[in-house]
Amino acid sequence: MEIVPGIHEIDTIAARSYLVVGDHLTLIDTGMSGSSSKIRDYVKNIVKRDISDIKTIIITHHHFDHIGSLDKLKKLTKAKVAVHKDDADYISGEKSQEGPVFMKFMVKLFKIISRYKPVEPDIFLKDGDQMGEYQVIHTPGHTKGSICLYNPQNKTMFAGDNLKYVKGKIEGPGASLLPEPEKYKESMEKLVKLDIEVIFCGHTKPVTSHASEKLREYLKTL
Ligand SMILES: [Zn+2]
Ligand SMILES: [Zn+2]
Repeated sequence: MEIVPGIHEIDTIAARSYLVVGDHLTLIDTGMSGSSSKIRDYVKNIVKRDISDIKTIIITHHHFDHIGSLDKLKKLTKAKVAVHKDDADYISGEKSQEGPVFMKFMVKLFKIISRYKPVEPDIFLKDGDQMGEYQVIHTPGHTKGSICLYNPQNKTMFAGDNLKYVKGKIEGPGASLLPEPEKYKESMEKLVKLDIEVIFCGHTKPVTSHASEKLREYLKTL
């Protein structure tokens, strides 16, 4: 469904993907494997465009609930795949998850369930890069190469798994999903300086108004 003009949320298996509609389409995250047909049908039936209009796929971080359908979608669209350089090796299969045992276990499980096929990224992002109207903000903590994408014009931000929106409040990923809590706190302090109205989250419904205010409230709890 279209959340703000030109930005659609597509509920994929276990996560949420987003589509930014312009001359070209940009897809943010791909969901678990098995999500590609849902994304293709959404683009065709709701946005009335062809899947090949997706020219860029931006990955917020390397977890399998966000990249499970990347292999299929890259083949379907021939899009360029952009990911932060610190998460790139996990997507191409050169590295496997570091951090707490719980995370290693979850990622291994996802890998088996989703039969993940490695994908070679095309664009290696770093903090401050520009992707269309969006600025790349490096926000390590949940993973080393987690990013947010911020558009100062319409004050929207894609947060990946950095933030959740539950019962009117912003929350973080929870201790078991934060291998580097100190870095995470620094990352959140970066975000609080921005003027944000809307935040799109990787798993929950979006924050649709006064996001900066809600983010400041959340930061007090860290
Ligand atoms: Zn994650
Ligand atoms: Zn996730």
